[in-house]
Amino acid sequence: MPEESKPFGVKVTDSFSRRFQFSLWKLTAVYVAILAIILFLSSFIIYSAFSSQLVHRFRDVHPIPEEYLNVIAPAPSADDVRADLINSLILVNGFLLVIAGFSSYWLAKLTLSPINEAYEKQRAFLSDASHELRTPLAILKTDLENEMAAPGVSLAAKARAESNLEEVDRMGRLVSDLLLLANSGEDGSNRVKNVQKVDLTVLARQVLGRFDRLATEHQVTLRSSPDNIALEILTNEELLQRVLTNLVKNGILYNRPNGSVTINMAESGSSVIINIVDTGIGISPEDLPKIFNRFYRSDKSRSRATGGSGLGLAIVRSSVEQLGGSVTAKSELEKGSSFTIKLPKRI
Ligand code: ADP
Repeated sequence: MPEESKPFGVKVTDSFSRRFQFSLWKLTAVYVAILAIILFLSSFIIYSAFSSQLVHRFRDVHPIPEEYLNVIAPAPSADDVRADLINSLILVNGFLLVIAGFSSYWLAKLTLSPINEAYEKQRAFLSDASHELRTPLAILKTDLENEMAAPGVSLAAKARAESNLEEVDRMGRLVSDLLLLANSGEDGSNRVKNVQKVDLTVLARQVLGRFDRLATEHQVTLRSSPDNIALEILTNEELLQRVLTNLVKNGILYNRPNGSVTINMAESGSSVIINIVDTGIGISPEDLPKIFNRFYRSDKSRSRATGGSGLGLAIVRSSVEQLGGSVTAKSELEKGSSFTIKLPKRI
């Protein structure tokens, strides 16, 4: 059984928006703590100073003679005044602490806003740049295809154009993946829209069907379980399909002859668990915490040979997060990997 990597489990759900929210609450708590300490110290100083004043004030007060006791109200004692002071301090400080809570949250948000803005700018830049790159790539592709199909083209020129076309295709996939990631709304603002009823077993079969040829080429068997009972959830089919597609593709590409990729599905309370298991080359414990990072490839030469850009798992993570779920991975070198996705039955 492949071994679980704990740091990895934490890493996967660690999106920018979650880290941002966590930092916001942490900073708010720090500000509240500082203000509470200031309030406590100032109250303590006020109380000490006032108490010592009280001692002097009440030292020279003479008791009211018996015969006047019915005529005028008895003067308060030093303890009465001290108790009044404590009550007032508690009341005022309690009120100030509530105000401190709100203003700390506002202050923390203000402190962190440049980070949020920088992140948004980076995302917008990535989206614009990827978008702009699409047109020249499409022109290049058409030119190279025409060059290859031109009459009388030499074999050497054709081979060169073919190799260039492969690079352009790779670049095209990279640009599409980047665009997908940039527009995936990791900040949670881009909540999933097209929610529909999806039968997981049907979707799994469809995804596996699309990889029939690739699996045969790599001598890998594809399975899904269960494959005959309906397992319906309310989700965004396109995003879920993207997740399964990326994981099954990796399961085939990082596999060995006579290996297998299996999609297991099960209900678990208000969630469903989808587990994609392969019997492939596995991932080392050092690489496991990093594989969901953008552009991370543990085996650069193999990844390049498979045409991978290192964005597949980053897309998986971002898509699962948009679906309100989580993804974790277990792996053992030379034995295989297992990716587990937990999704709510309805978003
Ligand atoms: P790539 O496009 O390179 O496949 P991914 O983001 O999909 O990028 O995967 C990142 C890296 O994680 C891959 O380069 C590969 O080294 C490793 N990896 C992903 N899935 C598997 C798997 N099922 N088995 C072994 N290694 C994997």
